[in-house]
Amino acid sequence: MVIDGHVHAGKGDGLTGPWNTDAPLGAYLRRARAAGIGRAVVFPALHTDYGRANLELARVVSRSRGRLIGFAFVHAGRDRGRIHEMVGTAVRQWGFRGIKVHRLDAPATREVCEAARSFGVPVLYDVLGEPFRIELLAQQYPDVDFIVPHLGSFADDFRAHYQVIDQLCRFPNVYTDTAGVRRFDYLVSAVRRAGPRKVIFGSDGPWLHPGLELHKIRLLQLPRRHEALVTGGNMLRLLSKAGRPSLRAVAAA
Ligand SMILES: [Zn+2]
Repeated sequence: MVIDGHVHAGKGDGLTGPWNTDAPLGAYLRRARAAGIGRAVVFPALHTDYGRANLELARVVSRSRGRLIGFAFVHAGRDRGRIHEMVGTAVRQWGFRGIKVHRLDAPATREVCEAARSFGVPVLYDVLGEPFRIELLAQQYPDVDFIVPHLGSFADDFRAHYQVIDQLCRFPNVYTDTAGVRRFDYLVSAVRRAGPRKVIFGSDGPWLHPGLELHKIRLLQLPRRHEALVTGGNMLRLLSKAGRPSLRAVAAA
């Protein structure tokens, strides 16, 4: 089963770029099916009200008959004080399986990490070219899994790619996704140095074509079982912890 680990769904309210305006799934779902992608992790576009955006996403997920897996988007600053509750609603009521944070909103905080720990879900944290943001989080929360999308930079910043590859090697709980990474040899290097268990296929659909993004993974020409980890196995392993809070969370409760 191929799982796309990075897809947006629903409308944003910013109207300053595709990322905060609209992420319609129609063409994405057709393209993904044609490419052999069976399931997708979805989260909202950037929004000024993630409570509302997550609720709208929950409706889309519930209509998908299991094809879509929701991640709750939170704003680490604006949603301060209610992140545990927002994630709790998403996980318990809607069956969401992860958290999305974006540095463009605000850098991730302890509150975000502790919600992830409590609910046993991964954090997909777009560091927007600043991988150092991951250093302290990964050390302070060794029982929380962090996925750094775009190998650290959607803007092809090779310095960020190098830093994230290094972090994949050093931190057992840090992963990357392949969404929109254009400089192919950084993907080769990530798999070679950190191993196939640390790299997750993602497309950044519907804005990028899932078939094209998946083809990049095929072009890595990995042994079959390694490719299967990248295209779904790794994400499934991370998602399987949801609802099973870590021992630290139990101890802290
Ligand atoms: Zn994205």
